Amino acid sequence: MRIKSPIKARPEPKGRIGNGGIAVHTDNMKPVLGKYALAEVPRYTSYPTAVQFSKDVGAADYRRWLSQMAPDEPLSLYVHIPFCQKMCWYCGCHTTIAHTYDRVGAYAKYLMAEMDLLAAALPDHHAGLAHVHFGGGSPTMLDDEDFTALCAKIRSIFGSLPNMELAVEIDPRTMSAHKAKALAKAGVTRASLGVQDFNLHVQEKINRIQPFAMVKQTVEWLRAKGIDAINFDLIYGLPGQRIEDVRRSTELAISLRPDRLAVFGYAHVPWFKKHQEMIRQEDLPGMEERYGEACEVGRVLEGAGYVAVGFDHYAHPEDDMAKAVSAGTLRRNFQGYTTDTAGILLGLGASSIGALGPGYVQNAPSLDQWRKAISAGQLPIVRGVVLQGEDAMRRAAIMQIMSTMKLDLDAHTHAFNAAPEALDDALEKLRVLAADGLINIQGKKITVTAQGRMFVRNIAACFDTHWQASAKRHSRAV
Ligand code: SF4
Repeated sequence: MRIKSPIKARPEPKGRIGNGGIAVHTDNMKPVLGKYALAEVPRYTSYPTAVQFSKDVGAADYRRWLSQMAPDEPLSLYVHIPFCQKMCWYCGCHTTIAHTYDRVGAYAKYLMAEMDLLAAALPDHHAGLAHVHFGGGSPTMLDDEDFTALCAKIRSIFGSLPNMELAVEIDPRTMSAHKAKALAKAGVTRASLGVQDFNLHVQEKINRIQPFAMVKQTVEWLRAKGIDAINFDLIYGLPGQRIEDVRRSTELAISLRPDRLAVFGYAHVPWFKKHQEMIRQEDLPGMEERYGEACEVGRVLEGAGYVAVGFDHYAHPEDDMAKAVSAGTLRRNFQGYTTDTAGILLGLGASSIGALGPGYVQNAPSLDQWRKAISAGQLPIVRGVVLQGEDAMRRAAIMQIMSTMKLDLDAHTHAFNAAPEALDDALEKLRVLAADGLINIQGKKITVTAQGRMFVRNIAACFDTHWQASAKRHSRAV
């Protein structure tokens, strides 16, 4: 079914580019699902992953890494806003409910102070920002004045490259025409809307009532103000959700012509996220249903001409992300797949993570601890990890296979001046996945099959020398 939309947007997608499509759910997949879908594997938004972060890395390391930064290296900035209006029961984010604006406003002032601390630690830097991402939580909890002031300060401290992307995650329930105008005036170029599912019976079970009309209105407000790049997040595996629900949600999403869609599987971890206890285990779809839902979203999106990007994103063929797939420049960072090619990612706000050449650093997740460090004039870093030994080579292998769905092990080891057999341990593990139809191996060239795309995290894990299958620290593959 095609649903026509009167909204000004990109034309309906035509043709097919990218690196191949998503699998179709068949009975043949049953044994594969049983073996791989329940495996808890990292999402590889970094390598080593956050599980390997330790207190041994702190603010002094961060200062040293910043001082070694090349002055012409473009930067990327992530700003975390850990506040929401209401808790969604499925939420896995680092957020808290703000009942009054005081807490949010005070947080914005601390962000300003953190920027000053970061500015003092940066060497003379001339390149500027290529990409800024406000995530959360709900960045649209910030009032117009604070958001505008933060954006102005970001530009004045870090500078901006001519085509800087300024992306903001949006909770449609917090939007108004006025806010859309303020976002546009502050320079926002991309809006990422949390959509999840359009069906009321599912929305009731996840404590997020958000009718289609509300999302449509938000998209119209944004586009009317010139914010044309629209992303949607959809979720499968939600309580009470069936295949026909994800099909309907996907079709309704397509009718609004988003440029990109991220499709996530709900991770039920009530022992880690207490509010998820509000979701009844018996309401959750089983493993096969989850897989069927994920395949259905892909089938509907690809049928409408969207390009599969990695294992959980889709893009309009004219969107930069689809072009990055074809050009082999697609990357991964903490938001998932990205077109951002800046070599350095700085983090601002509680729990945010920075990625620099030598390793990763993370700010204090605790609001209290984060504020105390800033008040004391210290960068609020509490942990991180230094890349060692083969980490850089294995990181590049993981990121490449997750982005392009292929890897030439000989070319890869050669590029890193490593011995030709340096990744043979991974190759041995990969042979098992090849026997299960998830990859093809020719010599030392690996290609992910359509069936394997959704299990590319399991494939990437073959290169990971830190991961422990039984660590219970990651979400399941599907
Ligand atoms: S709006 Fe997003 S971050 Fe906030 S509670 Fe809901 S899912 Fe979590």
